[in-house]
Amino acid sequence: MKAITVEPPKRNSVKLVEIPKPLPAKGQVLLKTLRIGIDGTDREISEGIYGTPPNGSRYLVLGHETVAKIEEIGDQVESFSEGDLVVPTVRRPCKENCLNCRIGESDMCLTGNYFEHGIYKLHGFASEYAVSDANFLIKIPTELENLAVLLEPLSIAEKAVTQSFKIQERMVWEPKKAFVVGAGSLGLLATMILRLKGLKVYVAATREKESLKAKIVRRVGGTYINVRETPIGTLEEKFDLVIEATGRVEVALEALNLLGPNSVMCFLGIYREKKACEEFGKVLTTMVLGNRLMFGSVSSNKSHFERGIKDMSEIKRRYKDVLNKLITKKLYLTDFEQAFKSDREEIKTVIYFK
Ligand SMILES: [Zn+2]
Repeated sequence: MKAITVEPPKRNSVKLVEIPKPLPAKGQVLLKTLRIGIDGTDREISEGIYGTPPNGSRYLVLGHETVAKIEEIGDQVESFSEGDLVVPTVRRPCKENCLNCRIGESDMCLTGNYFEHGIYKLHGFASEYAVSDANFLIKIPTELENLAVLLEPLSIAEKAVTQSFKIQERMVWEPKKAFVVGAGSLGLLATMILRLKGLKVYVAATREKESLKAKIVRRVGGTYINVRETPIGTLEEKFDLVIEATGRVEVALEALNLLGPNSVMCFLGIYREKKACEEFGKVLTTMVLGNRLMFGSVSSNKSHFERGIKDMSEIKRRYKDVLNKLITKKLYLTDFEQAFKSDREEIKTVIYFK
């Protein structure tokens, strides 16, 4: 079968190859891949920045955002049937089966020895067929088939929002205004979730006011800010919740100025580690004097995917085809290389397997 593989830490090793079709073991299903979404993590893995093949394998099959059909059921799988449309979650419990992994929160794993499809020690789904444990599959209603490839990134945004609200139970909190920094797929999906919750949402990015990203923000009732015209540092308004989805240190630090009293800020990027921050004392004092709080969020679990399914239907009902607009590039498998070239106006690139 055909598969998109990489050989980290080799740079630009991404290629389309023939590999053996996998067999579902006990408790697993064989998936027939329909579509794969490509994100920044896939590009960083293809650049050799991270990514780890399974033990004993020279290569790693890429792909952690997918929608697939169940082709075959392994032994002891009861809750699924052949032909079911599904999206698998990405992370699997650690070897030690720590407390959080044991109760279905492998996204909060304590040991760091977890596995991740297409990223860390487990093959991904960018192959004609793939296997997954049945316990980590989300059933997809057929009317969401075209959008389900967005469910994994949506689950990341769901976790960020859910955790923010959960953390803020530290007091009485009635958030009115949120600020999302960055209008990539994650930023836009977070914006939609926050709009469903009735918040006034501002989104800042570097694209022009007439760009597709800006239009999507306005389409869901948000306010778009072009930071080239209006830098974040010049904004005087304060917000109850700030979501940082650019991964850029200088932008993230500037966004601290947006935090109102009792607010919370969620970081979703991977930041350059050695960037000096001369104003760290100011940052800490700002946190203290306004009871502000910062936290990071990575990966997601089944509960976030399930919430994502509900919100996907609701976004479709309220804002019609806005989610389809996030898919800016559709490629056939033979053109997969185009998915790894940077494109300024890209939001989400999807590779079709059939
Ligand atoms: Zn664990």
